[in-house]
Amino acid sequence: MNLMDEKAGVLTFEKTENQNMIANMVHAFGTKEIAPYVMQWDEAQEFPMPLFKKMGKLGLMGILVPEEYGGAGFGYLEYITALVGISKIDGSIGLSMAAHNSLCTNHILQFGSEEQKKKYLPKLAIAEWIGAWGLTEPNTGSDAGNMKTVAVKDGDHYVINGAKNFITHGRSGDVAVVIVRTGEVGDSHGMTAFIIEKGTTGFSSGKKENKLGMRASETAELIFTDCRVHKSQIVGKEGEGFIQSMKVLDGGRISIAALSLGIATGAYEAALKYSQERHQFNQPISKFQGIGFKLADMATKIEAASLLTYRAGDLKNRGKEVTKASAMAKLYASEIAVEAANESLQIFGGYGYIKDFPAEKFYRDAKLCTIGEGTSEIQKLVIARAILK
Ligand SMILES: Cc1cc2nc3c(=O)[nH]c(=O)nc-3n(C[C@H](O)[C@H](O)[C@H](O)COP(=O)(O)OP(=O)(O)OC[C@H]3O[C@@H](n4cnc5c(N)ncnc54)[C@H](O)[C@@H]3O)c2cc1C
Repeated sequence: MNLMDEKAGVLTFEKTENQNMIANMVHAFGTKEIAPYVMQWDEAQEFPMPLFKKMGKLGLMGILVPEEYGGAGFGYLEYITALVGISKIDGSIGLSMAAHNSLCTNHILQFGSEEQKKKYLPKLAIAEWIGAWGLTEPNTGSDAGNMKTVAVKDGDHYVINGAKNFITHGRSGDVAVVIVRTGEVGDSHGMTAFIIEKGTTGFSSGKKENKLGMRASETAELIFTDCRVHKSQIVGKEGEGFIQSMKVLDGGRISIAALSLGIATGAYEAALKYSQERHQFNQPISKFQGIGFKLADMATKIEAASLLTYRAGDLKNRGKEVTKASAMAKLYASEIAVEAANESLQIFGGYGYIKDFPAEKFYRDAKLCTIGEGTSEIQKLVIARAILK
């Protein structure tokens, strides 16, 4: 899908050769390496590290990283295609892939120094190292600018104290980009991003969360107790951390839209197939108008979400302002993913409620998409701000 041909001034909807190649590759990989283990990982809440290493070898963990830093060097259209393909099979693998690629890795790629890029991107791009990104704290989620974790300057070092919670790869991550307070509360220039490696004295992991869905994606606390970090670990300049984070989230929201699209598509395709196989009243249930209408609504909304998501990706590729477009894509795709998963489960009837069938997992996983990287309410705030400015 290559949405906007600027020269011609028309919209085109054909997938590029690279997108087709990636879609086929991801389908083959996911069918063999993910599909057979989805429920095993879900029930054990296992973060399947060996899988991510294999995804690293295929380029899926460094899709947006330029080739000079060891990445695949693709743009957002290819990234969305890959994420949709993975998330159709397992949303929790999609969530971890998204957090690694577009939060941690992308923060360093967008704002890191050349030295930091050379040091960290090659390891992250092949998943030799897994990345985490810490903004949220126990008392400040939507209101992240009010964070309490502080870094106090001490010569050439900063001493960090506090905690971040709900962090994807909070335990398994080898490196984290963490945004902490270095100035006054209420000052958007009072926060700074640091790159902190596992093993740094005073940096540890806390509680691993027991979640409703996305259970193969690890979510845990990061704890800082007199953690000394050299000033060379600052991303960009002191005071830029919050502004950088908002820009990172502009891209991150495109990935949550893609994750949502994948889950919605997986739920829809499972329901479509089941509705043609399941007979009641001597006919496939797909023949009932009540079921056909559900499938029609799901298919239409998935198509609309796809257009919004690829449109945001296309804008991002071309270096355009994406705050509104990515918030719209994330808001709509995540809300319709929850709807599609709900309708899919309904089409499966009682079997939808049973773990031997795929519908209940889509239902549990989808809900995260309306919460992570800014809730639906926060997306509406972002969109309203953009419209009303
Ligand atoms: C599985 C998972 C993975 C995550 N991974 C990461 C990660 O890797 N890194 C990271 O930093 N964070 C991560 N998060 C945190 C996530 O981004 C936050 O949970 C999210 O931003 C919401 O914050 P909160 O949970 O504190 O909710 P709150 O901010 O307390 O919101 C509670 C409710 O109030 C509403 N609300 C709040 N403010 C407003 C307002 N101004 N107007 C209207 N309604 C409002 C919200 O929409 C919500 O409905 C993750 C969360 C989960 C569950």
